[in-house]
Amino acid sequence: MELLDGKIVKKEILDQVKKLVNDINRPLGLTVIQVGDDEASKVYVRQKEKMANELGFNFNHIKFDADIKQEKLLKVIDKLNKDDTVDGVLVQMPIPEHLDSKIVQNRISPLKDVDGLTDVNAGCLVHNKDSLVPCTPQGIIDLLKYYNISLEGRNVTIVGRSDLVGKPLANLMINNNATVCLCHSKTIDLKKYTANADILVVAVGKANFIKEDDVKEGAVIVDVGINRQDDGKLCGDVYFDGVKDKVSFITPVPGGVGQMTVAELAKNTYKAYVLRNKNR
Ligand code: NAP
Repeated sequence: MELLDGKIVKKEILDQVKKLVNDINRPLGLTVIQVGDDEASKVYVRQKEKMANELGFNFNHIKFDADIKQEKLLKVIDKLNKDDTVDGVLVQMPIPEHLDSKIVQNRISPLKDVDGLTDVNAGCLVHNKDSLVPCTPQGIIDLLKYYNISLEGRNVTIVGRSDLVGKPLANLMINNNATVCLCHSKTIDLKKYTANADILVVAVGKANFIKEDDVKEGAVIVDVGINRQDDGKLCGDVYFDGVKDKVSFITPVPGGVGQMTVAELAKNTYKAYVLRNKNR
C-alpha cells in the first residue's frame, strides 16, 4: 500500500502558484467572510490565512456576529464584487440557519467564486467549461494525477452527494472519462458499489464507516471524511488500519485530501484573477 500524501502535492502546487503570482504587479486579494463562531470554521479560516500569507496574498477576514441580517451580508458581498483589488471571495460554511446559504453563495460574482459553489460555476462544470471548481474535488483529481493513477475507463464509486464534494467530483470524474457511481444515504446495498470500485471516494462524515469487506483488493481509496474521535484525534470515514493491507493506495487523515483543499484555494484565487482579466 502506498500513501497518497497531500502534503507533498500541496507544497508542489503552492510553489507553482507562488511563481505565477510573482509576475503580477499587485498582491492577489482573497476575502473570507465568517458568520458566527463555529469552532471548525475558525480552524479552516486560519489554514486559509496561513496559505494566503505564505503566498503574499492580501488576505481579508471579515467576521460577523451570528445574528447578522441577510441583507447586510449581501450588501457586503456586492461591495467585494465591485472591488478591483479583490480576486476571490468565499463565505465559510456552515452559516447560521436564518441565512439562506444558496442565496448568499450565489451573490458572489462567478468570476470571484473561489469555492466554485455558485450555480453558474456548477453549470459550467457539468458542461465541462473552464470555470472555478470546488476545491476539495479538484484537489482529489490533482492528487490522483500526481500519483499517475489513471481515471479513464475506471470504475469510480463516490459515497456522498453533497454540493461541496460528491456532486462536483462526479462531474470531474465523468469529464476525465471515468465510469461513475454516485451513492448516498438512500442507496440500497451500498457494498455492491463500493466493493466494485477501482477508485473509491468516501465523503460521508461518519468515522470508520467503510471497512475491509467493503473494498476491492488493490483499490485506490480516497478518504474525504474528517471526524473528531473521543480521544480528540482525527480520523476519516474509512477504517484505515482495516483496509490498508488490502488496497493499493490510500489517503491518510489528516494529511491527505484536507491538504489539497487549501492548495486548490490558492490555485483558484490565481485562476479567478486570470478569468476576470480575460473577461474585461
Ligand atoms: P454532507 O453534506 O453532510 O454529505 C454527506 C453525504 O453522505 C450525503 O450525501 C449523505 O446522503 C451521505 N450519507 C450519509 N449517511 C450515509 C450512509 N449511511 N450511506 C451512504 N451515504 C450516506 O457532507 P460533506 O460536506 O460532503 O462532507 C463529508 C465529509 O467530508 C465530512 O466529514 C466533512 O468534514 C469532510 N470534508 C472534508 C473536506 C476536506 O478538505 N478534507 C472538505 C469537505 C468536507 P444524503 O444526500 O442522502 O443525505
